[in-house]
Amino acid sequence: MKFLLPRFMFDKIEDIPLCTMKKLGVKAAILDIDNTLVEPHTPVADKRAEGFVKKLENSGILVCIVSNNIYERAKKFADSLSVPFVCDKNKPNKKPFLMALDILKVEAKDVMVIGDQLLTDVWGANRMGMIPVLVKPVCDKEGRFVKFKRIIERRVLKGFEGEKID
Ligand SMILES: [Mg+2]
Repeated sequence: MKFLLPRFMFDKIEDIPLCTMKKLGVKAAILDIDNTLVEPHTPVADKRAEGFVKKLENSGILVCIVSNNIYERAKKFADSLSVPFVCDKNKPNKKPFLMALDILKVEAKDVMVIGDQLLTDVWGANRMGMIPVLVKPVCDKEGRFVKFKRIIERRVLKGFEGEKID
């Protein structure tokens, strides 16, 4: 089950320390939208998501959104942050991550993938040799399929804490 484990775990996006990213040599961040940056169905970025993206950009870290959501949703959201996006390509498939690398022009090992789901964001990141970071879902308003995946996630993560940061 190692392929489903993140390298780091945080409660929320703003807890991810910039200094850790810098120390790891992170050049770009691939961000999930739903329940990572905002609650599902939030059409555009809120202050919190905006602040996080700005913080990354201001320290020279490139940002690309990779969402399994549909084009209209992903485009409207990414446009509100003025960042590129890839959507509707079924993470954990490699395809959306490869498309993001093509946009970002960086190597997979220098990319941190930040998301709320083991079976999409974390698995995909591990397949790509990227750095998987798991955050807790912003809210528990989730569909039946995601609720089912959360049961699997809880089993996989039992007793796991991720790498400690110093
Ligand atoms: Mg998500």
